[in-house]
Amino acid sequence: MLCRSLLLALVATYAAPVSVDQCATDRCDPFDYEYTKNCCQRTWNPGWDGLVTTCKDEGVIALTFDDGFTAGDVITAERLHAAGIVATFFINGDSDINVPGGKLWGSLDAVEGMGHQVASHTQTHCCIAGNEHCPGKACSAIGSTVSQELRNLEQEYERNANRSAPGGPGQGGFYHLRPPFLDLSESSAAEIVKEGYSIAWLTDDTNDWMGDHCLVYRCLNSIVSQPASGSHNVLQHGRNSGDLSAAYWKQFKQAADKNGWKFVTFDQCVYGVDHQSHPSSPPVAPPTPPIAPTPSSSCFWEDGCLQKDMYCGGCASAGADCTETPNFRCDHGLACVTEGWSMFCRESSAI
Ligand SMILES: [Zn+2]
Repeated sequence: MLCRSLLLALVATYAAPVSVDQCATDRCDPFDYEYTKNCCQRTWNPGWDGLVTTCKDEGVIALTFDDGFTAGDVITAERLHAAGIVATFFINGDSDINVPGGKLWGSLDAVEGMGHQVASHTQTHCCIAGNEHCPGKACSAIGSTVSQELRNLEQEYERNANRSAPGGPGQGGFYHLRPPFLDLSESSAAEIVKEGYSIAWLTDDTNDWMGDHCLVYRCLNSIVSQPASGSHNVLQHGRNSGDLSAAYWKQFKQAADKNGWKFVTFDQCVYGVDHQSHPSSPPVAPPTPPIAPTPSSSCFWEDGCLQKDMYCGGCASAGADCTETPNFRCDHGLACVTEGWSMFCRESSAI
């Protein structure tokens, strides 16, 4: 029996699948032996009023997680907290087109209690500007507006938290918006600003939605491998970051400390490290019912699923068929292809 147990233990040791963390110390650019490059830098910045890209202070990193709260956001919040890192979670409401069945509002107090910040990613995760290449549904197509998307999520926050959303219009706190799919136009940016929100743009995109953890490690490690200078505003998604272990975040924080980086909430990124991102607010009376448009479909756009009948757009989750959310139909001879964040109609022969 003893021998058999020992053998099983040995088999378990040597036959274990290769850990995803084998690349956890990678950083890019692999051909840049001085490691001065950051492979996830995002250079495009339309520069419209209200857009926040870099932080007020030097040497700070704002880690941000979109599409919250999912289970991955909550576990990430805990692991970051254990490592001594504060972050910001941009959340959607229960009517998030991407995640049917509701959000983990019950985790709100715990996440904010750890010093993390919660801010807006719209109520339904629709395309605010309705740009042609946005892979989700246009807000206007589901009968919604910028104002409704912002107000309804504020009300949902207040209903679940039984207190006012932190901050206020023009004063930060909850009042920062990360546009879904980064879909934005000059006029929609102006509408967001009019509602008292700043627009949470970014400097670094981990592209974690592609599902390649090594890519994410290379991006994050590249940032903290450099001596602190300037600022970083980094995009991740909770459902992907939930796979990054507590040990990884600890190692990440140690590298950041060694190079003099400080971690800030998005609020502190905008207003400076001394800004209070969580002013205490008294409980508020239950708000009036929201004026929510309820989208009929559910979809993980990240799956990059191509529609039947050449429809190009989001797709249903969990392998269900893809006909629920066609955004536009490709003309004859064209087919839908995914390229990075977007989907396009291309000549069939070119695919
Ligand atoms: Zn999103």
